[in-house]
Amino acid sequence: MIISFILLSIMAVLILVFFTYRCQTRFFYRETAWYGKEIPGEWVCMDGDILKLHKTSKSTYKNNVYYFCSEECYNYMVMHFTKTAMVRDAISGDLINKAEALIGLKEKGKPELVYFKNRQTMNMYYEQRKK
Ligand SMILES: [Zn+2]
Repeated sequence: MIISFILLSIMAVLILVFFTYRCQTRFFYRETAWYGKEIPGEWVCMDGDILKLHKTSKSTYKNNVYYFCSEECYNYMVMHFTKTAMVRDAISGDLINKAEALIGLKEKGKPELVYFKNRQTMNMYYEQRKK
């Protein structure tokens, strides 16, 4: 009797974690597992600086490839180009275009992003934060 109740509870939790909250579960996984790694652009909306729950879609603007969750986000970036598409390398402070930047997680388990102009500054950033 008690055992079947425990089994049922475990089942319920499993269903919630892997079915009902599937997206959130995978999102929490990515927030942690991708720390220190390069994040694919398709998980980012380039009108902002946070990791997205769902994949975004590719758009081309002035021969550069960007990713957005909607047409509105795309329009927002086009209208506020220098403010949203241009970012500073987290280590060197160089101004870079998000289309060319390497994207990383600012902190483990958090959705905020940071950008790097190359592998070198990216590695330096995560190396510094280990201490
Ligand atoms: Zn968006």
